[in-house]
Amino acid sequence: TELYEKGLEKTNKGFGARLNAFLAKFRTVDEDFFDDLEELLIESDVGYETSEDLTDQLREEAKLQKAKSRDDLKRVIVQKLVEVYDENGDSEHEKLTYDPNAKPNVYLFVGVNGAGKTTTVGKLAKRFHDQGKKVLLVAADTFRAGAVEQLVEWGKRVDVPVVTGPDKADPAAVVYDGLERAIAEEADYLLVDTAGRLQNKVNLMNELEKIQRTIKKRLPDQPAETLLVLDGSTGQNALLQAKDFDKTTKLSGLVLTKLDGSSKGGVVLSIRHEMKLPVKLVGLGEKAEDLADFDAANFAVGLFH
Ligand code: GDP
Repeated sequence: TELYEKGLEKTNKGFGARLNAFLAKFRTVDEDFFDDLEELLIESDVGYETSEDLTDQLREEAKLQKAKSRDDLKRVIVQKLVEVYDENGDSEHEKLTYDPNAKPNVYLFVGVNGAGKTTTVGKLAKRFHDQGKKVLLVAADTFRAGAVEQLVEWGKRVDVPVVTGPDKADPAAVVYDGLERAIAEEADYLLVDTAGRLQNKVNLMNELEKIQRTIKKRLPDQPAETLLVLDGSTGQNALLQAKDFDKTTKLSGLVLTKLDGSSKGGVVLSIRHEMKLPVKLVGLGEKAEDLADFDAANFAVGLFH
């Protein structure tokens, strides 16, 4: 889609431009070629482990396919990237879980402050609202000053109600209120925005676990999604955060934001490779419509345009 390509222009310029420039200099397939490729991957935020792994696989694949020319190699690289991004073509895996009979489908959003949680909740609320679905939001970050107001603002903007609690309320209690209201009103979606303070990580993780427990206790099949929101422009730091959250909070997928920014883009590859978690959505700007489903093939091929 146009939004997707436009939004990813910078990412493509970063990672993609490097790949293109690298292939343009191509002379022959030898050890130097793969050494240089590995270095390029590391510099593009792909991460050391993934870069090494990928280069090994590409070396094998180039040999198997008897790739000799620049075009052969480009084909081999694109194939491998799609494979990693797409988890071997399992694109169903990439879609957001939705059960039309579940009233509501609960999506829980977690991630550190500034990653883009509230913005993503607002954007998704607009998408579902525009589809004619009944949507309810929950402001479960009762800790940070201004967090509730920010979500309430989004609710007004996209015309979706927001459940809030008193100042410094127990976040799980606010989530419980949200659940009750969503069940009573037969909402299709309940989108829960949570806190992301890192000053007291143990405390935050306990809080998120309690929220997950509260949801499960009331609705055993929910949450349908627990999505970790990551700022794509933070490079390998995003991977570290993902590992941290994954330890205590059972995640179902990732949202990568700010891919319209100066992101080198390689981090998508390493998160995909190391975490085995699907990227379900990408953020491509600050506006309500700047959200897209992740499309592995588009992403990989787009790098070479
Ligand atoms: P939260 O603390 O995780 O809830 O993060 P916010 O939703 O408040 O977002 C933090 C900042 O990032 C805000 O200024 C957002 O406008 C901005 N932001 C969020 N998503 C994107 C995105 O995809 N692209 C860009 N350029 N900015 C974004």
